[in-house]
Amino acid sequence: MSVTIEPVEIRSPEDPALEQLCQQLRELSDALDFQDENGQSPWPQRQLDLCAQYGVFRWFLDEEFGGLGWSDRELTEGYLALSSACQTTTFIITQRTGACRRIALSGNAFAREQLIAPLLNGSQFSTVGISHLTTSRRHLANPVLAAEETDSGFILNGFSPWVTGGIHADTIVVGAELEDGRQILTVVPTDVSGVHAETPADLVALSGSHTGKVSFTDVHVDAKWLLAGPIENVMAAGIGARTGGLQTSTLALGLSGAAIEFIFSEAEKRPDLLPPAQALRQERESLKQILLQSASGDESCGTETLRQHCNSLVLRSTQAALSAAKGMGFVTGHPVGRWCREALFFMVWSCPQPVVNAQLCQLAGISVE
Ligand SMILES: Cc1cc2nc3c(=O)[nH]c(=O)nc-3n(C[C@H](O)[C@H](O)[C@H](O)COP(=O)(O)OP(=O)(O)OC[C@H]3O[C@@H](n4cnc5c(N)ncnc54)[C@H](O)[C@@H]3O)c2cc1C
Repeated sequence: MSVTIEPVEIRSPEDPALEQLCQQLRELSDALDFQDENGQSPWPQRQLDLCAQYGVFRWFLDEEFGGLGWSDRELTEGYLALSSACQTTTFIITQRTGACRRIALSGNAFAREQLIAPLLNGSQFSTVGISHLTTSRRHLANPVLAAEETDSGFILNGFSPWVTGGIHADTIVVGAELEDGRQILTVVPTDVSGVHAETPADLVALSGSHTGKVSFTDVHVDAKWLLAGPIENVMAAGIGARTGGLQTSTLALGLSGAAIEFIFSEAEKRPDLLPPAQALRQERESLKQILLQSASGDESCGTETLRQHCNSLVLRSTQAALSAAKGMGFVTGHPVGRWCREALFFMVWSCPQPVVNAQLCQLAGISVE
């Protein structure tokens, strides 16, 4: 007889309801690795609905906006738990939250009134298309998404190369550049004429995030949606910004936690697996302490250095889990194969150039410049 679990709002990272939610996300995560009849990986709507019911979307905003106002440390603990249960759902939440926080903290009362309540209760979905201002297409002479100022707002032309859940979004928080180099951050409702979310890319992992390009053809965006700018380097102004912060390291540590626990479960029958499992757990514990201290404002190691260590651990621990699972782990549907592919994402996700350089040197076995 199956028991129906009634979702309750998770009040803190210690709340047992968090593990209740994670257990359900874990059970649903295997299905994300299979494609439907159209060759598409499923979008985790059920998982996102569960997160809404457990109040996850409210963690990230202060009480004045209707949120629960979790501290950065609590958010880190929450993300560690969610990401060890389901990377795809957690990654989507990071992009959704990026949009929510930028709207809430922008000072744009109109956008807040229209969007924050439906975003917090899960009835609307918003996401971000901002990487072309930070880590994507930065080597190109011309911006990939151009903005032209008009009397009533802005006209957008071009594309945003990576937008998670673009085809599901009611609104997208988009960055664009004017001819004089100044940049804007604006909400774009997806039902405005000229906005087109393309078919999501078929990815090495996380295809369920339905990430793809969104193109903009003569899109008129009313000034009432403007969140920031026009100014130079709008992302540095940092409203609600977390790019290149601790979030990527947190999700990497979450995934490594799942992999390491898997090795321990195998070690119950195979004691020879215990020494590597213990070493990996110890390394993860040290990194987790550094991460939580950094989230509490007590940084003992730079964000980029921490990112490099977390990237290294997630790659090694997921591959160690594959070694432990042997051939069975190489069969589609076994979680460790999926975890190995998901770990590769951290080599490219919002990866600043110094981290890319350090990664390449490490892989080449040469010392970092
Ligand atoms: C699954 C996934 C989901 C994502 N979701 C989002 C999202 O929701 N929102 C968001 O804003 N971003 C998102 N991103 C973007 C992400 O954060 C990074 O910005 C992105 O991965 C950077 O990769 P890129 O290929 O665009 O980089 P680029 O730097 O644009 O590189 C692209 C290509 O350009 C060439 N190139 C690179 N550098 C140079 C150079 N210096 N000179 C000449 N050629 C060069 C290389 O051939 C390279 O393959 C997502 C990315 C992925 C993979």
